[in-house]
Amino acid sequence: MSRVYNFNPGPAALPLPVLERAQQELLDYQGQGMSILEMSHRSKEYEALNARAEERIKALLGIDDSYRVLFIPGGASLQFAMVPMNFLPASAVADYILTGAWAEKAFGEAKKIGQVHIAASTQTENYHRIPDTSAIKLSDRPAYVHITSNNTIYGTQWQQYPDVGDYPLVADMSSDILSRPFDASKFALIYAGTQKNIGSAGVTAIIIRQSWLDQASTVIPTILRYTTFAKNNSLYNTPPTFSVYLMSLVLEWIEDQGGVAAIDRINRQKAAVVYTAVERSGGFYHGHAQPESRSLMNATFRLPSEDLEKQFISEAKAASMVGLGGHRSVGGIRVSLYNGVSREACEALAAFMDEFMRKNG
Ligand SMILES: *Cc1c(COP(=O)(O)O)cnc(C)c1O
Repeated sequence: MSRVYNFNPGPAALPLPVLERAQQELLDYQGQGMSILEMSHRSKEYEALNARAEERIKALLGIDDSYRVLFIPGGASLQFAMVPMNFLPASAVADYILTGAWAEKAFGEAKKIGQVHIAASTQTENYHRIPDTSAIKLSDRPAYVHITSNNTIYGTQWQQYPDVGDYPLVADMSSDILSRPFDASKFALIYAGTQKNIGSAGVTAIIIRQSWLDQASTVIPTILRYTTFAKNNSLYNTPPTFSVYLMSLVLEWIEDQGGVAAIDRINRQKAAVVYTAVERSGGFYHGHAQPESRSLMNATFRLPSEDLEKQFISEAKAASMVGLGGHRSVGGIRVSLYNGVSREACEALAAFMDEFMRKNG
């Protein structure tokens, strides 16, 4: 068996022990004589798994029963629409802070539902930084304020979340959920597709404040209401059972690492290995993100020419390092450093970067 160093932006690398456990349990899940894929979502084994996944998220985020954890399919993209459908009444305005293409998509969906306001944007700078807090101009009484915690494509990340007072703060945390500690109690709603930091594609984790959930719309279709998922413990209809199972394994793995604080230490070391290689190149590699907005999850940088970038990607691939192509809106290289990526992978890449520059710089 030979596994590559996987820097894919999403779906992305999973911790090896998680994959091995899934493999080991695939034919016979906990003595049931069948895999989790073949089991009823109404079985007590599945219900226990589902409940455990909820509890693990709560424990890892340090939240209590004033929050609900929901598992909804449809990706973060469905959440772009569900948030305004549930929480943007006709009389109100929702505020969006635009820090990248995903934030724009979320904003675009809200615009189809109701009135919206751009509270801040760094779009004219190709989103190479997070706006200064002083540049955030909220509307009069926003129904909520929406942010994207980590901008996967540009390699920027909020270092300090904005203070929006008593207005509900909503965040798309698809690409940095459970990668670093933060105060979850500041948020009314957090959503994250699990395929980057905490599992596979197919399910989105939603963390929602109960008191806000109580204000959600009751006139939209049943399947689009957060209350439907809450009332039924995310088992209203057949859920993506295998995705929830894999997420649960990743959450257990995070616990085994020592929780979010320990994961954060490792993630900071990993990012430092890559950013140091960028910095010591003396400009051969130059970052897209401004240093004060730099992401621990996605490091983006350019080389002196597009030809060298192509060569970098193909030589890296030949050296078993994959998933390094930047998004077309930024170009260059993007190194995704999610929870499942090992420090060893980052060190191998940094050594490759040094060597590539020595030969081509
Ligand atoms: C990947 C990503 C998305 C898209 O998620 P889907 O699950 O494909 O809908 C949305 N937001 C952010 C921040 C992402 O990184």
